[in-house]
Amino acid sequence: MEDYYGNPSSLHKKGVEADRVLGQAREAVAAGLNVGPGEIVFTGGGTEAINLALKGALPGRRGRHVITTTVEHPAVLNACEQLKGRGVEVTVLPVDGQGVLEPGRLSEALREDTYLVSVMYVNNEVGAVQPLEEIAALLADFRRRGHKVLWHVDAVQAYGKLPVRPRELGVDLLSVSAHKVHGPKGVGALYVAPHVQLEPLLAGGGQEHGRRSGTENVPGIAGFGVAASVIARDAQGVTGKIYALKKKLVDGILTAVPGAVLNGPECRQDNPRCAPQIANISFPGLRGEIVLHSLEEQGIYVSTGAACGGRKNTGSHVLKAMGVAEELLEGAVRFSLSPVTTEEEIDYTVEQTVAVVQELYALYN
Ligand code: PLP
Repeated sequence: MEDYYGNPSSLHKKGVEADRVLGQAREAVAAGLNVGPGEIVFTGGGTEAINLALKGALPGRRGRHVITTTVEHPAVLNACEQLKGRGVEVTVLPVDGQGVLEPGRLSEALREDTYLVSVMYVNNEVGAVQPLEEIAALLADFRRRGHKVLWHVDAVQAYGKLPVRPRELGVDLLSVSAHKVHGPKGVGALYVAPHVQLEPLLAGGGQEHGRRSGTENVPGIAGFGVAASVIARDAQGVTGKIYALKKKLVDGILTAVPGAVLNGPECRQDNPRCAPQIANISFPGLRGEIVLHSLEEQGIYVSTGAACGGRKNTGSHVLKAMGVAEELLEGAVRFSLSPVTTEEEIDYTVEQTVAVVQELYALYN
């Protein structure tokens, strides 16, 4: 903001300097995903990247059918709703009780006119990891038979916690967001494979290789670049460390609170369906919101549902899609960990959560 305040499109020295900052950030983000800098489009966050992928991939494409899942982020589900208004048929695939898609269902749903499949990497509410390798194999087979389907992955929650390697999986479009890796809010990126034709959402001056017009948010993008470099540098061992802390948290709470239930895949490091950083626990008979506010008084900030869904609370569409019982839906609380979470914080969180929940049970039951 202070030193590189030029407009990166300006021809003078200040513009060139700002453009260099953008270039460095682009290289850092691209390197973290093991892709080329020219394949990165900076956006105003994960939501915009997702919308650009889903809507931008449509024009001119023969197919008019999209496949996604019931547990996607609202950015995907609501973009699909809008696509319906453009004559697109949308198939929303169900998941199992852990929040995981059975790849066979995708296989059955693929059609001649399917232009896009959007299946997320890690679910933001329960930490279910979708079977991307199986989906990749299945789509590769479908393409070998002459079909031109594109694959978009919402990797916003996997980014910085699990390896995100779009090229190796044959992913065509992949969305990430800076604030999930301690970067600034309101900045994200879309990876676009070189062969993908993408229509921009915004008409304007043609920035980002014509894919995202508008003067770039240079300070935000610079911050994203730094965050991307930090996660790449510290990647070694991070996943294992967070898993161990999550296990401690989950075991600590479930052991001390009879009746508490972990929603989502079983928390074992050798369970490939379990993400390291999200633990969604239901306290039957309590309201998640009351637990949230009681924990907040102890300096612990948890969520009910998804924070990025705004403040409206209509019950989690993810838990409902997993078939979670009614009495568990209301009492669900989501704990999120990160590479900077410490063991002391986990010990404190277990102790406080158990105390708060026991107190609430004594009060209400
Ligand atoms: N996708 C997932 C899985 C998310 O968890 C989020 C938000 O937290 C988004 C997309 C949206 O990203 P953003 O908040 O950067 O718009």
